[in-house]
Amino acid sequence: MSRTVYVNGEFLPEDQAKVSVFDRGFLFADAVYEVTSVLDGKLIDFDGHERRLARSLGELDMAAPEGDLLAIHRELVARNEITEGLVYLQVTRGVADRDFAYPKDTPSTLVMFTQAKGLIDSPAAQTGIKVIAIDDLRWGRRDIKTVQLLYPSMGKMMAKAAGVDDAWMVEDGLVTEGTSNNAYIVKGGKIITRQLGNDILAGITRAAILKMAQEAQMVVEERAFSIAEAQAADEAFFTSASAFVMPVVEVDGATVGNGKPGPVTRRLREIYIDESRNVAI
Ligand code: PMP
Repeated sequence: MSRTVYVNGEFLPEDQAKVSVFDRGFLFADAVYEVTSVLDGKLIDFDGHERRLARSLGELDMAAPEGDLLAIHRELVARNEITEGLVYLQVTRGVADRDFAYPKDTPSTLVMFTQAKGLIDSPAAQTGIKVIAIDDLRWGRRDIKTVQLLYPSMGKMMAKAAGVDDAWMVEDGLVTEGTSNNAYIVKGGKIITRQLGNDILAGITRAAILKMAQEAQMVVEERAFSIAEAQAADEAFFTSASAFVMPVVEVDGATVGNGKPGPVTRRLREIYIDESRNVAI
């Protein structure tokens, strides 16, 4: 079945869904995005993604896209018969002659598509995944969810070349985040994850997990940690909208804990999936 893709007000077969070569998303990576997961045909944490999108747009003085985003998400999910998977949304500053200065009053481009994908029955969630450490060479405004994803792509390739699944990025001796996820360790029952700032993305899954952990009387500490601390931790994991809570069992060649997904990580994954299902819209 050909996918139905949304482009600027129209639902189109994917081979007819096109944007201009002069689109600033294409020429300057002048664009922001969101990825919302779908379980049982319903959207997880839609409000959080919509709020973060508004913030990203505001930080870049980019016009908000036209249309009711929730209604478009639902329509795309229905038309593509997605029960489990993702909705990708991208807003660009629109089409203009190539110039570094922002164009005035150009309507933004809005593109959305779905990806059918099993999220819950993930083999990686059973075994845990391995990460290497790499330098964080991204720009300084990682709190804005832009489509400048080349360095994270390079990080993924470095991980593959090293025979592992992902890379945790390190700046000034401390882990910032994964290539497309927020990083955590667990030590003595305490959940430790880097504090928010310009140097990481404020994950929507991160916010949900920290709230759920606190509600379950778990102790959370928001501070940066090093690779050595992660290697000596009892457990490690990452979170993202597409992976939920994913155990990490090896960090830069060292086994974490007993090399299996730990009890705190497993419990958080369970709580997150249960609660998200209950409040999905
Ligand atoms: N950090 C980065 C760099 C990411 O790309 C992502 C996923 N988009 C995250 C963290 C996790 O964010 P979320 O939980 O909102 O998917």
